Amino acid sequence: MSNLETDPVEVVAECLADKGSPVSRVEILSPREVPLGGPRAMNVRRTLPQRQRSTIGGWCFIDHYGPQDVSTTGGMRVPPHPHTGLQTVSWLFAGEIEHRDSVGSHAMVRPGELNLMTAGRGISHSEVSTPATTSLHGVQLWVALPTAHRAVAPFFEHHVPPVLRREGVELRVFVGSLAGAYTDASVFSPLVGAQIDLAPGATLDLELDPSFEHGVLVDQGPVRVNDTDVAPAELAYLAPASGPLTLAADAGPARVILLGGEPLGEEIVMWWNFIGGSHDDIVAFRSEWQADVIDGGDPHGRFGSIPDYDGSALPAPVLPTVRLKPRG
Ligand code: MN
Repeated sequence: MSNLETDPVEVVAECLADKGSPVSRVEILSPREVPLGGPRAMNVRRTLPQRQRSTIGGWCFIDHYGPQDVSTTGGMRVPPHPHTGLQTVSWLFAGEIEHRDSVGSHAMVRPGELNLMTAGRGISHSEVSTPATTSLHGVQLWVALPTAHRAVAPFFEHHVPPVLRREGVELRVFVGSLAGAYTDASVFSPLVGAQIDLAPGATLDLELDPSFEHGVLVDQGPVRVNDTDVAPAELAYLAPASGPLTLAADAGPARVILLGGEPLGEEIVMWWNFIGGSHDDIVAFRSEWQADVIDGGDPHGRFGSIPDYDGSALPAPVLPTVRLKPRG
């Protein structure tokens, strides 16, 4: 998915973990609604980045959407757009999205299946919900690549993680390892990502890597995260060494996305669909996208091209004159 804000701010993130507080270890981050663009657009709920916090481990972008009936609206149609310095993690609960990219991948994103695109030095892709899709529901996540790997050659992977079933709990680990489950999706810093479904009344206790900070995004709930009730669409942040995690579906069926990782510990600059090491990187990526793709100067440039997409690529917004420098 693209960041389709018409006037995105530039975020300079230091990617350090919170020390945490002994009084309340769960910090609630509320979403903001962001329109995905187009005349009959769907909105997404964005919980990262935001002013209080830009990253959780390498996770640097969390968009949560649906369930939305798209049978009459035409669904999601995100034209070709670029990425650099990050991985996109597409994960659906319902619906189907057709993915095309400039390294020649053509794949369907389906519920319970991971589509992982490593942009590295540069890629472009399009995402269109299929005609059979009546309801769209899922998350679009980005992982910031550490400096040492920021310019890797772009590639695409598809994984179908196994479903771990326990009493009243279903666990799908799509990145890293958790509770004895493991996936070999390619990552460049220590990370975990999982979908956890809880039957009404179910409780799950998880040992967490103490070097990781974590976020619990509630899709269906409320869910009790340790001692704190977290409402649907909210993100609960847990600092490293917060101890074991308890998730409880006290009020009915529940579903969360658990994300975690080691703080990157280095500064990144995020703007629109780009991550770089400096503002100058962002300026260069934007001008290459505009010159090579939007103005048609070089179909074999950094972002390549997607010959099978029927339509025009997304022009980059105008660069802002103001930069934000939040903590975290
Ligand atoms: Mn995208």
